[in-house]
Amino acid sequence: MTVRTRIAPSPTGFLHLGTARTALYSWAYARHFGGQFVLRIEDTDVARSNQESVQQILDSMDWLGLGYDEGPVYQMQRLDRYHAVVDQMLAAGTAYRCWATPDELDAMREAQRARGEKTLYDRRWRPAPGKQLPPVPEGVLPVVRLANPTDGAVVWDDLVKGPIRIANEEIDDLIILRTDGVPTYNFAVVVDDWDMQISHVFRGDEHINNTPWQINIFAALGAPLPRFGHCPVILGDDGQKLSKRRGAVSVTAYEEAGYLPEAMLNYLARLGWSHGDEELFTSHQMVQWFDGSHLSKSPAQWDPAKLAWVNAQHLKMADDDRLAKLVLPRLVARGAAADAMPQLGAACALFKDRAGTLVELTDWLAMFVLPVSPTEDDLRAHVAEPVRPALALLRERLETVAWDKASIAAAMKDVLAATQLKLPQFAPALRVLVCGRAQTPSIDAVLALFPRATVLARLWLL
Ligand code: GLU
Repeated sequence: MTVRTRIAPSPTGFLHLGTARTALYSWAYARHFGGQFVLRIEDTDVARSNQESVQQILDSMDWLGLGYDEGPVYQMQRLDRYHAVVDQMLAAGTAYRCWATPDELDAMREAQRARGEKTLYDRRWRPAPGKQLPPVPEGVLPVVRLANPTDGAVVWDDLVKGPIRIANEEIDDLIILRTDGVPTYNFAVVVDDWDMQISHVFRGDEHINNTPWQINIFAALGAPLPRFGHCPVILGDDGQKLSKRRGAVSVTAYEEAGYLPEAMLNYLARLGWSHGDEELFTSHQMVQWFDGSHLSKSPAQWDPAKLAWVNAQHLKMADDDRLAKLVLPRLVARGAAADAMPQLGAACALFKDRAGTLVELTDWLAMFVLPVSPTEDDLRAHVAEPVRPALALLRERLETVAWDKASIAAAMKDVLAATQLKLPQFAPALRVLVCGRAQTPSIDAVLALFPRATVLARLWLL
C-alpha cells in the first residue's frame, strides 16, 4: 500500500499551531514511508473562507518546509464531483432529501428537550418500507441527509487513541448537502479522502465525533477506509485550550518573533510525540524516526520557555551565512543599508550563542550598522577619566594597524602596557563607546567586525 496523507486546513484564519502539528505528523509519516503528502484547502464555509487565509496557510507551510506533493486542492472547485456522489447515494438509498425547515427542526428539538431526550434529527423524511412521507412543501429547498445505520456501532482502531466504539443510535442522519448545493465538511472530506486515496488521516481530536459519520459514509460509498489518528489538543500554559486569546497561535507570528522553522518543527513534533529522550533533532531525523508510534494520548502543554530553549539551540547549530540572510532584512527594516555589513555571516557566528531568537540576534548586530547611543550611566561608569588617555592612544594605533582580530588585540595589549591599565578597566569603555553597551563577546573579535572608520569615529566622539 502506498502511504498517502494530507492536511486539510479551512482558510478561515491563519494556520494555527495545532494544524501545523498535524501537518507535520502527516508530512513526516508520508516521507518516512516514501509516500505522498497532499494539501487540501477546505473552503466550503463560503462565508468565512478568504483568500488572505489561503495565502497565510501556503506561506506557513512554505516557511515550515512542509512540501506537499499534490495540491493545493480547493474543495469549492470540486462541487460537481460532490453532486455526482450525492446523486449516486440518493439512487442507492444511502442518502435522502429532507424538506424540514429550520423552524420545524427547532420545534422538534424543543419537544425533545422537553421530554428529556437527546436532540437528534427524528428522520421524518427518511424513506422506509411502508412509511408515508410528508407532502413535499412548496417553495422549500431540500437538504440531503445521510441514511445513517440505525443500529450497530462504528468501531475503529485509532492510531493515537487506540480502539474507539460509538453506537449508531448516538448519531443521527447528518446533512451532507446544504440547500445551496454546498456539501458539509463530513461529506466533502470523505469524497476527497477517497478520491485522493488517502491512507492515513492525522487530525485534531476535536474531530473524533465526526469520524463515525465519515466512516459510515465511506461504507455507504464502498470506499476503502483510511486509518485515523486523532491527536490531543494543545493546551496553553494556563492549562486551557490554546486559543487566539491565549497567546500567539499562528505559525507566522513565530516567524515574525524570530523563531527558526526547524526549531518550530522540532518543538511542535515533541508536543505529542517522542523518540526516546531526544529533545533536539532535525526534520530529517524526525522523518527517519516517525512511523506513527509513540504519539501521546494526553494533551500537550504549550511551553514558551521550552520553545525558546529549542530555538536557541537551533540558532547555535544554524549555518552562519543562512543566519545572515535571515537577519539582513530585519536590520534593513530598522534603517540599515542593505550593504552596510559585508561580514554579517562572521558576526552571526560570534553572536548567535547569545541570542534566543533572530530578533535578539538582530538586536546585537544592529550596533554594526546603525548608530549606537550609550547610556549616561554606562558612560559615567565605564568611560571615566583614567581610561580616556588609553582610548585616545588606542584610537591612534587603530588608524594604521592591520584590520584583523590579532592586530587589534596586539594594539590593545600595547596600550594597556603603556598606560598601566588592566583589560577589565579598559574593555568596558571600548564596548560602551563602540558597541553602545558594556557587555559583548571578546572585544578584539567584535572590533574586527566593524569597518575601521566606524570604530575610529565612535572613539573620536570622546
Ligand atoms: N478542515 C478541517 C479542519 O481544519 C479538517 C479536518 C480533517 O483533517 O479532516 O479542522
